[in-house]
Amino acid sequence: MTAPESVAVPVDELFGVDTFSKQVMRKRLPKPVYKSLLRTIELGEALDPQVADIVAATMKDWAVERGATNFTHWFQPLTGLTAEKHDSLVAPDGMGGVIYNFSGADLTQGEPDASSFPSGGLRATFEARGYTAWDPTSPAFLTRNGKATTLCIPTGFVSWTGVALDTKIPLLRSMDALSRQAMRILKFFGTDAGVTRVQTTVGPEQEYFLIDKEIFSRRPDLVTCERTLFGARPPKGQQLEDHYFGAIPARVLAFMADCEEELFRVGVPVKTRHNEVAPGQYEIAPLFEISHIASDHQMVLMEILRRVADRHGLKALLHEKPFAGVNGSGKHNNWSMATDDGVNLLDPRDDTHTNMQFLVFLCTVIRAVDLHADLIRASIAAAGNDHRLGANEAPPAIISIFLGEMLSDILTQIEQGLPNRTIKGGTIDLGALTMPQIPRHSGDRNRTSPFAFTGNKFEFRAVGSTASVAWPNTVINTIVAESLDAVATELEKAAGSNPTPAKIQSAVLTVLKRLLKEHKRVVFDGDGYSLDWHDEAERRGLPHFRESVDAFPVLKSKKTVELFKKYGVLTKSEVDSRHHIAVEKYVKQLVIEAETMVSIARTQILPAALRHQKLLAETITATEGAGVDCDDTVAELERIARMVGEVREGIDALEKASAFDGDDLMKHALHIRSDVRPAMARLRTSVDALEPRVAADLWPLPTYREMLFLK
Ligand code: ADP
Ligand code: MG
Repeated sequence: MTAPESVAVPVDELFGVDTFSKQVMRKRLPKPVYKSLLRTIELGEALDPQVADIVAATMKDWAVERGATNFTHWFQPLTGLTAEKHDSLVAPDGMGGVIYNFSGADLTQGEPDASSFPSGGLRATFEARGYTAWDPTSPAFLTRNGKATTLCIPTGFVSWTGVALDTKIPLLRSMDALSRQAMRILKFFGTDAGVTRVQTTVGPEQEYFLIDKEIFSRRPDLVTCERTLFGARPPKGQQLEDHYFGAIPARVLAFMADCEEELFRVGVPVKTRHNEVAPGQYEIAPLFEISHIASDHQMVLMEILRRVADRHGLKALLHEKPFAGVNGSGKHNNWSMATDDGVNLLDPRDDTHTNMQFLVFLCTVIRAVDLHADLIRASIAAAGNDHRLGANEAPPAIISIFLGEMLSDILTQIEQGLPNRTIKGGTIDLGALTMPQIPRHSGDRNRTSPFAFTGNKFEFRAVGSTASVAWPNTVINTIVAESLDAVATELEKAAGSNPTPAKIQSAVLTVLKRLLKEHKRVVFDGDGYSLDWHDEAERRGLPHFRESVDAFPVLKSKKTVELFKKYGVLTKSEVDSRHHIAVEKYVKQLVIEAETMVSIARTQILPAALRHQKLLAETITATEGAGVDCDDTVAELERIARMVGEVREGIDALEKASAFDGDDLMKHALHIRSDVRPAMARLRTSVDALEPRVAADLWPLPTYREMLFLK
């Protein structure tokens, strides 16, 4: 298979050509219309219906010129995926021909049948009405798939009763909540001039595996579950550490360049590509954007990875743990807050010890993470992520914050009084005259921390590679909003009604000191992989939810419900539905995995092993018939027969363990953890033990070596 030609057009001519961006709108819309729309986008003013009609007509012309025949409201239901229902832009003109037709109403509102999307009990199946509503702040874009070019309009998805049935609406609400509270801090410091909003920003790094499509299609476990349920460890895995940042294989590079071209076209600013730690594992990262745009773009990115891989005869696996024994995949969620005129509020600047506003924002996040570590953990609970978190390759399931030496030192100074120094990084002399001296950061990195401060942002590293980033960011924004609210209230009170600079400084120091006393237990700069940390975290009273089923109940706790309600992010029934859907998805995924295991073991592994067994038996008969002693083959036959027996028992045991009566989802999830997962693990162990003993030409599944070492 030959890969298509890549990026023939310079990137600056390519970037955003398939997005209905602000530039396009400015160029094409009448000035008053553009201005009115801008007020909606930037200031949240209500959309004028007449404006909507003109925008729709202009958007349609632009899309049709670029080859579009259909449009869709593109949304993110609670499946965690994206949804689209295409409608034609063409309508009969009544005279035997057609005209292109797309009204303001078509643009602003759609009405997909809501009953087939998960609502987590929010809606009965017969209560089907749901609406999609245009999100004018996220640019419309074109998707190109062979002959089909479709205008995609980002939308939110609500029920007829006004309940959010998607991941975008709560994210937008959480951004508003955070903005309101963060503005109070800016006001307190007198730095709010010219600022109308505080935005949250997100830069998600995506890890994924690539395997050959033909090999993929011969693994029913990958086809059905996107992860291998069987597979013996190959002699060479990642132990030589030769893959990370290694030279990118030509076929993979062609794929990456093609993905980047597609992403550039729709305005996703991808920046970084490299080999990851495991063989066959890669990473792609865009530049950060405002949260909801970053989240939309992340969904587009996952779709494009999958679609373009297919064209290259590859399969992109986004699952958190497609292969046992080598690293799994995550999505590092880099997060910060910035004013709408572009000031990053988590930038410590030089002389950080004097930057009181930064220290307040920093300690507010520390407070939020300490008070809501359980909810952060729960926000990334999912069956796939269970294989990753807590293993020695991914952040632990204990949520803690890494700050690094420079910040930790300043916080210690604050505890003792007025801070008076900032540790500097200095430079590193490479000892070779021809090479430049390079600046050194003031602290090292820590890849074992789930919530690490990395220079001028936090990196939440525990998000799963298949997850939408909308939900974890909704949680982060909401808990930080709550924390900003509490801290702002305290600061305002401590400084009094007529705050002088001296009063402000003393208020800040008092509040920071108290915050640190109460919440610094969540700060941990050591090795998050070590077992000592588990004990230490327990002593500090930090929650440790090892598995998803332990964390799910947090999603519907009273504390969670009240938090979301107070900041207008989710109502109680909206919270309950998120809990319901998370548990339901976990149960469904594991039921599918267990059934797939039984089916593969019974219909593929057992027959192959029996054929091998027969081969040995026939060999013995023939060998002995020829008068040659073959005790060793007899011993091997006995061993194979025993191992086959174990596999058969394992299949029966798993089938038995999988039986569950009743429709209490949480009980089912707990049963899966206590009975089904151990039975799955036992069956896998016996099958994997058999694999290296059975003739390769009889083994029915491609091996790890074939899957991982793509050339
Ligand atoms: P790493 O060295 O951590 O792997 P990468 O360069 O791969 O870093 O990715 C870092 C990500 O963090 C990028 O997506 C980058 O745009 C993002 N990022 C940088 N600054 C911010 C910020 N202020 N807010 C959110 N994300 C940010
Ligand atoms: Mg990276």
